[in-house]
Amino acid sequence: MREAKGEAERSTVSVAEARELILGSAPALGRETLGLERATGRVLAEQIHAGVLIPPEDNSAMDGYALRAADAVRAPSLLRVVDDLPAGKRSQRAIGAGEAARIMTGAAIPAGADAVVMVEDTAVEGEQVRVRSAPKLGQHIRRAGSDVHPGVLVASPGDILRAPLVGMLAALGRTQVSVRARPRVAVLATGDELVEPDRLRADGRIASSNSYALCAGLREIGAEPVYLGIAPDEPDPIEAQFRAALACDAVISTGGVSVGDRDWIKQVLAGLGGNLRLWRIRMKPGAPLAFVTIGERPVFGLPGNPVSTLVTFEQFVRPCLLRMMGHTRVYRAVESAVLDEAYDKPKGRAHFVRVTLERRAGELHARETGAQGSNILLSMVRADGLAFVAEDTTRVEAGARVPVQLLHSDDLQTEPGF
Ligand code: AMP
Ligand code: MG
Repeated sequence: MREAKGEAERSTVSVAEARELILGSAPALGRETLGLERATGRVLAEQIHAGVLIPPEDNSAMDGYALRAADAVRAPSLLRVVDDLPAGKRSQRAIGAGEAARIMTGAAIPAGADAVVMVEDTAVEGEQVRVRSAPKLGQHIRRAGSDVHPGVLVASPGDILRAPLVGMLAALGRTQVSVRARPRVAVLATGDELVEPDRLRADGRIASSNSYALCAGLREIGAEPVYLGIAPDEPDPIEAQFRAALACDAVISTGGVSVGDRDWIKQVLAGLGGNLRLWRIRMKPGAPLAFVTIGERPVFGLPGNPVSTLVTFEQFVRPCLLRMMGHTRVYRAVESAVLDEAYDKPKGRAHFVRVTLERRAGELHARETGAQGSNILLSMVRADGLAFVAEDTTRVEAGARVPVQLLHSDDLQTEPGF
């Protein structure tokens, strides 16, 4: 295939090498401007400096009485109540000696006052208030700009618009925000044996479960799947599908990428000017994976076995798309777990073992989810994590620790962890 042909077809790469190559070629997507209420979960594409004081004025942190601290140094003291200040009401009169204003949380501190005594430390006596404890100067007053003041850096490109940041932007009066675009990702399936789930009959054909699993995986990260259906194992329909897919920012196909007589993916992509960047990865499940770029666009020819599809999506496609979307943390969290039963494997390929996880006596314990064949989708359905067993390892003893990639944690990290 083009310049990379011979070499890429012969050689295999490790998981880490594949990850580096794939993520290294992730193109950055453009930006778009969105209304604040639609920007949740998106990645910020601009620097945000505060332009205003928050709070805009000194205000009360308590329901109570605003007064001059010097008037109440010898508690208890009796002060004349001259004003009533709910939040949102500005006082029209300054607090003089021997005076106090009833004040609610968030109301601006009236001129003259320099402390607030909370209502629990007072008692009303007619037109007066008895202050039972001596206030400290400035007590219970939130200073103007104590949250942010003009010029403070509030957020930077790459930050995620989570609830607190959305709230802060609203507090600053922003209604629009510049964010990184979400990728449109073409999903296509290949295989004569495949039908859509609603066409499943007792005729030996199987549902293209990968199509649905991949679209779901894309939606989980906020990418937009563009499903292009199933192509039979013939070069022409596969090529037509890929041509349609080139309107998208990235492409994922499944099946037809191995060395079978009817595995056309690599050949078709070569015909479309694709640059085959890697093909075989020393991992199980999921060894045959064609990573091709057409222009800047990443094209993932994933293997067809459902577990291989999902495991390779997890390791390579998902982090690549997250990077394209401007995320800095693109890898699932990895934790060390105790493997409850020994695991044996030959040398030469890293294994991703589907495990359930349970915390017992402060230790995370991992246990295989049953049969581990690359066609056993249930092994993935039941998995809380993927335990990583390195290429050269031949046995992990029961009770030994392994790194486990957590599949249900939103906690992401900047480094892959194995
Ligand atoms: P292939 O990679 O085309 O050799 O397919 C490997 C295995 O995965 C075969 O058993 C296929 O039937 C199965 N397979 C391929 N594509 C899909 C799909 N979209 N959904 C479910 N299984 C598939
Ligand atoms: Mg096939």
